[in-house]
Amino acid sequence: MKNSSIVKDIAKERIVSLASLAEKENDEKLALRYSRLMKRISLHYKVPLPKEIKKRICRGCGMLMSPGKNCVVRLVSSKRYVLYTCTRCKKENRLPY
Ligand SMILES: [Zn+2]
Repeated sequence: MKNSSIVKDIAKERIVSLASLAEKENDEKLALRYSRLMKRISLHYKVPLPKEIKKRICRGCGMLMSPGKNCVVRLVSSKRYVLYTCTRCKKENRLPY
């Protein structure tokens, strides 16, 4: 396709703006909607989610996790990972470091 790179740029922009919207949103339903939309845009336009955003998406419910808001962050230094526990669905997301 001719304009595929333009389309991808727009998709990327939308993902980033949706992420900041989801972060600021106090309404859980809306935040979840933004998060899922972000994932759908990424799949549809084959644009990878930025790393910073990808690692913060809950694998249980798809919500963008913001520390101090809808997730609990714990450092498990003995096993070298950061444990993000989603307060919405209680799913534990491990991120090795
Ligand atoms: Zn969750």
